[in-house]
Amino acid sequence: MTEQLQLNKLASYIDALRPIIYVPTFDFHAFDAMIEQLRNESIDCRICEYNEGLGMVDFKTKKSSLSLTLDKFLRSYTLSQKRTKFLVLKDVHSSISNPVIISLLKSIALRNQYDPDYNVTIFIVSSVLTIPPELEKLITIFDPSLPSKDGIKDLIINFAKANKFNIDETFSEELTWSLKGFSEFEITQILNLAYQNSGTIEARDLGLIIEEKEQIIAKSGVLEILRLDDSIDDVGGLDRMKDWLRKKSKVLDRLNEAVKYGVDIPKGLMIVGMPGCGKSLTAKATAKLFGVPLIRLDVGKLLGKYVGESESNMRRAISIAEAISPCVLWVDEIEKAFSGIGQSGGSHEVTTRLFGFFLTWLQEKDNTVFVVATSNDISCLPPEFLRKGRFDEIFLVDFPNADERKSIFEIHLKKRGKWSTDIDVVQLLKKTEGFSGADIESIVKNTIENAFLSGEKSIGTEDLIQEIKDTKPISESLQEKIKDLRKSLERIDVKKASYE
Ligand code: ATP
Repeated sequence: MTEQLQLNKLASYIDALRPIIYVPTFDFHAFDAMIEQLRNESIDCRICEYNEGLGMVDFKTKKSSLSLTLDKFLRSYTLSQKRTKFLVLKDVHSSISNPVIISLLKSIALRNQYDPDYNVTIFIVSSVLTIPPELEKLITIFDPSLPSKDGIKDLIINFAKANKFNIDETFSEELTWSLKGFSEFEITQILNLAYQNSGTIEARDLGLIIEEKEQIIAKSGVLEILRLDDSIDDVGGLDRMKDWLRKKSKVLDRLNEAVKYGVDIPKGLMIVGMPGCGKSLTAKATAKLFGVPLIRLDVGKLLGKYVGESESNMRRAISIAEAISPCVLWVDEIEKAFSGIGQSGGSHEVTTRLFGFFLTWLQEKDNTVFVVATSNDISCLPPEFLRKGRFDEIFLVDFPNADERKSIFEIHLKKRGKWSTDIDVVQLLKKTEGFSGADIESIVKNTIENAFLSGEKSIGTEDLIQEIKDTKPISESLQEKIKDLRKSLERIDVKKASYE
């Protein structure tokens, strides 16, 4: 959204008499500028600021004008107000769960709606989003979206002007792209840091920006950047899905050319199916195949205590992923995160909203965040999720067939330097029907460990067979669960990840 559109949206909330507008931002300066512009351009009003640490504050000078508590501050605006007032409350997130404050905010908000001679809009500005349930219906969240590409370019140009250095046009374009997804405050911080280093900003500072991005991921608490250990050749079988991924990788390699030709930007895939059969492994290998970072989104951690907090966390996670793109965003066990959708009750409603937000983002997404969602129980996922257009493809991963088990044995034995042509694979395959990739890996690991402890130089077919006998495959230990899983999978239209 451009800066002007944001301003229009905020003005429309005020015109519509939305009584409390919650602005989840760290960047108070940018918000002040916005509200000031609103006053100058369209709404004649007085701005009264309160800051948790300073008490009543002069909006212009930011000096504390009166040391008082929030309840006293609010109480003074409950009486008739002829002139339009904006109450800007900063960093009050810890106080607004107090029953007295809730009651005062509520009475101001309701009066604003029902009394034509009373015009007070409250803005709660804080980097922490805390909405007490009693106020939920009175609060509108206004999330000042991150600066647009043109906005970032202006920030860079103005920064260079203010510090009297020249910035090359091509480089400033590159810098603009790499700063996408950051807030105005973060951008200024990064530019300052780069400038302090050398008295100018140049190509080698891009490394610094990457470091900053990694810091932001770590601080987000909901995203995790993972190391890329496994390659696509470490995934045994699942050849149809791997071929599909290789095709997408070629498109991403020549993205500009492909888009010009009319090819859609790859969105992502959903992998469903049996436990321990390579879903997570494929998600990890995809990032390596594409040569981009792998970020895991923990949707469980997005769920916050307060109304609106979860959505705000999700928005932040998505904007960080966009900032880091091209990347693979792996949403693991997506069914756990979004179960309970459509049911009534507080936490279910939050999940439903979160889900709706994620779906819309997925549908409209035109960036290079490639989403890989993995799930084994899709029965609790709503059908909209699996509809075409969300993901480019949905693949079903089943227990490996004989050829696939052969490659999985080979991969894990080779990884540990114990592959030999003397091993009679045919015998192993006969005895491992219904075994998952994880079962096979554990057989190989245990056999090697036992051989080591008994002082054997190598391992043979018999050693592996012995271990197979001692292993209860997942398909047996989770028999009932697997049966249910099959039933729920039969109901959806998915492509098999393996060739038949
Ligand atoms: P879950 O649904 O239980 O999370 P999953 O399908 O995501 O299971 P993975 O985590 O990918 O299972 O597999 C567990 C381990 O088993 C992998 O790290 C890998 O070592 C081994 N494995 C599973 N499938 C394969 C495979 N097709 N090729 C090679 N190794 C495999």
